[in-house]
Amino acid sequence: MAKVLCVLYDDPIGGHPASYPRDTIPTISGYPGGQTAPTPQGIDFTPGEMLGSVSGELGLRRFLEERGHTLVVTSDKEGPDSVFDRELPDADIVISQPFWPAYLTAERMERAANLKLVVTAGIGSDHTDLSAAIGKGVSVAEVTYSNSISVAEHVVMMILSLVRNYLPSNQVAREGGWAIADCSQRAYDVEGMQVGTVAAGRIGLAVLRRMHPFDVGLHYFDRHRLPAEVERELNLTFHGSVASMVGVCDVVTINCPLHPETENLFDERLIASMKRGAYIVNTARGKIVDRDAIVRALESGHLAGYAGDVWYPQPAPADHPWRTMPNHGMTPHTSGTTLSAQARYAAGTREILEAFFDGTPIREEYLIVDGGKLAGAGAHSYSAK
Ligand code: NAD
Repeated sequence: MAKVLCVLYDDPIGGHPASYPRDTIPTISGYPGGQTAPTPQGIDFTPGEMLGSVSGELGLRRFLEERGHTLVVTSDKEGPDSVFDRELPDADIVISQPFWPAYLTAERMERAANLKLVVTAGIGSDHTDLSAAIGKGVSVAEVTYSNSISVAEHVVMMILSLVRNYLPSNQVAREGGWAIADCSQRAYDVEGMQVGTVAAGRIGLAVLRRMHPFDVGLHYFDRHRLPAEVERELNLTFHGSVASMVGVCDVVTINCPLHPETENLFDERLIASMKRGAYIVNTARGKIVDRDAIVRALESGHLAGYAGDVWYPQPAPADHPWRTMPNHGMTPHTSGTTLSAQARYAAGTREILEAFFDGTPIREEYLIVDGGKLAGAGAHSYSAK
């Protein structure tokens, strides 16, 4: 029987929600391109309820305990006295979400002698040392596509809110003011701008599709080129390097995974090569950009705005400079954990666990590391050290 150690974010301050703003969520049965939404044998939760926090338990307790497994759920994940560190040595499976990542370093993995499977309930497995997982023969899986559209919606929202100066204008309204000139002195239309994405995978392409009706010029850089018919349909300009793309863009959105090729990609030099007054929206990972170079570029006015929901480390400390830098539209790491997304990645996590326990193959597209190498989505989108 397996011990499953699950790290989730804290419950809402007022406790597990007793009710929700909406009674139902739409049923999404498939994604663009034909991949089906998760297909577990069953679920023990109502889609639309809070599953990602400790009390929600990703809806897994009944399923696991009926099969005789042990489930430990905690939000306490940092330091040698944390519940996570104490429970890790005999855990068979570790589950966590990127929003509140259990950082599975090589050192921690070394102490997890029983570990066989690491599941990211969501997308983005960089909080697990993939090289260490490869070396130790531990499988890593994530719920590919479960929240890609959730993030793409957040990116579009953030592009519009930065360019149109939405958040400061909302503040004026809240404070009883009518300072129109103050609001409009930083407000522009997106129409006619050049918008580029670093990576055109599931999220990046969904952002391009959603920005297309705004009559902007669309650009992308990716290590895999999109099919020619998609480039034609969206009138995309492909760039052979990030540097070539960011130099012509008014808005740059970052949608690649964090791995050795992309860590610190947006350093001082690359940011300096962007147009004065450009905007960056990064919902990929905090470490893809140089934290302090972003602050300096906003302070000097070289960047007109920066928004995103990914920080390093997570949770971000109270004095993280991105909380107080000018012209930012940051949120905590929320884009991929809407109640809608939670229902999909909880179901996908269950699907992965069912396959693991039944000894049937985990879906190829969910795999990041398997059999001592990058596999599935991992082989397509990541690189190991
Ligand atoms: P995906 O695998 O569909 O797409 C990733 C794309 O990145 C691929 O097209 C790949 O070729 C490209 N890529 C990889 N390395 C590259 C490089 N060095 N240069 C250029 N392109 C490169 O994944 P996705 O669903 O689009 O998600 C992308 C990332 O977004 C995730 O890995 C994760 O880090 C992040 N994400 C964030 C949230 C959130 O809540 N903020 C949620 C989901 C995913």
